[in-house]
Amino acid sequence: MDSLARLFAPETVAVVGATDREGSIGRTILTNLIEGFRGAVVPVNPDREEVLGIEAVGDVADVPDADLAVIAIPADPALEVVRTCGEVGIRNVVLISAGFGEMGDAGTARERELASIAAEYDLNVVGPNCLGVISTSSGLNATFGPEFSLQGPMSFVSQSGAFVTAVLDWAKDQGIGFEHVVSLGNKTVLDETDFVREWGDDPGTDVILGYLESIEDGRAFLETAREVTDETPVVLVKAGRTEAGAQAAASHTGAIAGSDRAYDAAFEQGGVLRAESPQELFDYAQVLAGQPLPAGDSVAVVTNAGGPGVMSTDALGASRLSVASFADETIDRLREVLPEAANVYNPVDVIGDADLDRFRKAMDVVFADENVDAAIVCSAPAPIVDYDALAAVIGDLHEKHDIPVVSCLMGGNRTRSAGAVLGEYGIPNYFDPARAVDSLSALVEYREISRREYEPPTEFDVDRDRVRTILERVRSRETNRLGLEALPILDAYGIPTPPGRLVESPAEAIAAAEETDGPVVMKVVSPAVVHKSDVGGVAVGVSQDEVADTYDALVARVRQYQPDATVLGVYVQEQVDVERGVETIVGMNRDPQFGPLLMFGLGGIFVEVLEDVTFRVAPVGESEARTMLDEIEAAPLLAGARGREPVDRDAVVDVLQRLSQLVTDFPAILELDVNPLVATAGDAVAIDLRLTVDPDRL
Ligand code: ADP
Ligand code: MG
Repeated sequence: MDSLARLFAPETVAVVGATDREGSIGRTILTNLIEGFRGAVVPVNPDREEVLGIEAVGDVADVPDADLAVIAIPADPALEVVRTCGEVGIRNVVLISAGFGEMGDAGTARERELASIAAEYDLNVVGPNCLGVISTSSGLNATFGPEFSLQGPMSFVSQSGAFVTAVLDWAKDQGIGFEHVVSLGNKTVLDETDFVREWGDDPGTDVILGYLESIEDGRAFLETAREVTDETPVVLVKAGRTEAGAQAAASHTGAIAGSDRAYDAAFEQGGVLRAESPQELFDYAQVLAGQPLPAGDSVAVVTNAGGPGVMSTDALGASRLSVASFADETIDRLREVLPEAANVYNPVDVIGDADLDRFRKAMDVVFADENVDAAIVCSAPAPIVDYDALAAVIGDLHEKHDIPVVSCLMGGNRTRSAGAVLGEYGIPNYFDPARAVDSLSALVEYREISRREYEPPTEFDVDRDRVRTILERVRSRETNRLGLEALPILDAYGIPTPPGRLVESPAEAIAAAEETDGPVVMKVVSPAVVHKSDVGGVAVGVSQDEVADTYDALVARVRQYQPDATVLGVYVQEQVDVERGVETIVGMNRDPQFGPLLMFGLGGIFVEVLEDVTFRVAPVGESEARTMLDEIEAAPLLAGARGREPVDRDAVVDVLQRLSQLVTDFPAILELDVNPLVATAGDAVAIDLRLTVDPDRL
């Protein structure tokens, strides 16, 4: 057993701060521990011979064979106790005490000291400032909460201790049990990633769920989640969706990418199901713990009333699931077992006068159909249906046919005991058919996650030195931004750009224009100008004889906008047939937790208005890049809407991967936009570039 597993299954627990003073935390913890714990409990209190009738010791050093110390004394002495634990070899500590990072500068200093003691002695510390830890298989309640937990196949980690107490109270009422529960507190040493990793290998945990407000080390979390979610579903609520004000960014990507986009992307890539509310969290966790994964996406609905059937089909229509179409023999057999007025097509309506036997026969036929991957059973109260008996029949048939089933026995009080019967079969019961559909969707989503293979990113052959040389130029600039003059960076990474170059005089511009056939595009290049077309700095369709005048006009316009602006020159570029393609954007913004966040979406000058974009944490593999193309609203445009040819998806996917490698190779690139990347039937070409560079990271 590794040392963290020992935290949940200790043999001897020392309780530092144990006391019999009424209403104290120390007393509550001791009481909770002696109630169900099968190992030994030793109170530690220098002022008492015994506490609550148990012999006490004066110092945690007197219980060196303890494998867990629960500490509930003020912060300063608590730090000393943690050190003593390290010295005598007690490896696991639950630090209930407050007075750390949440308490200003003095607390922050204590928290740093705690981290260094833990590192010195290799301690597993939960907390500080937490409610504690529960492990039902060992009867361990090392919390000061008012509730213990029923035993069950889920393990729950929470950043809020208060939420744990509420959940424990509610869960008991619902018949929901846990294997382990951890209140993380300030996460100085152990954080969510440690428990997700630990529980991924825990035979008692079928589903991991959590309530988080932040993730400490995004990269470690993502890597751990990728491994764990192959075998064990992870469902998380990440609270704090709204941004605390987007950072002032010089790129479209930076303006749109917020930390919540990073969480969404990382959860998607790590195979974590994101729940939007506590209710969803437990809906998903329960169905994942109780029901098998469906083989396909087709759902049958059996109901005794039209309304719930309609509600179910509406919800199915809006979901990733589909309404199953039955095999012919299913319809024939339903005709045999149902009265003429019944509906034998999906949703099957056994009608309001159905008794238990009719309900059973209909379900038996439907569940057996090869085309049915999952089922929703709905019922409204009727005088001849006893919900408890119906619940037992649903449970039996679910076991017989081994398909996932969720139920909507609708009503109030009368559904209580039926809900408990269903619960024994792991079948959730809802009032609202939409919730039933959401739960089945979560099963399907997890099925896909468990099947997918992690695919490492492709390594392209690139010219790093050339990129470094170009990025170095930022040192001599008045801002840390580079623009079109840095376009050769993309070329060095194999991303196609149209012929073109930066020129510094009208004469040079004419020479550059003569190198290309037909009209050219001319764009002013100045560190003072972030969005060139906003200041009239882009001229499209410039014929050869207009080149010189356009040069002067573009420079004049920038000077008008900002008289002392540095103008590096004008970029003369071959004109691309934008009309026949789609202007997309690929970009990157660096997230403090997750690192480079890659963006793909509909590009052009209205990016921020439309915000039709999607994100992934870089580096991305090929199939991750490919799914980005399907995720934007404008996906049909890429597929060739309105008689246009579909764009070359492979070319776009290739650019995404190469850009992913570029931003991974160069942490000095803080943010970057390629807008637009013009995708046509034959290629994907980058015609604009903007990036922010931190020269200290070069
Ligand atoms: P900025 O984003 O700074 O305004 P861009 O270089 O992106 O400057 O140009 C703005 C718009 O001009 C593009 O979205 C595109 O519609 C058009 N454009 C720019 N370069 C070309 C080109 N080489 N060929 C055709 N159209 C272009
Ligand atoms: Mg642009």
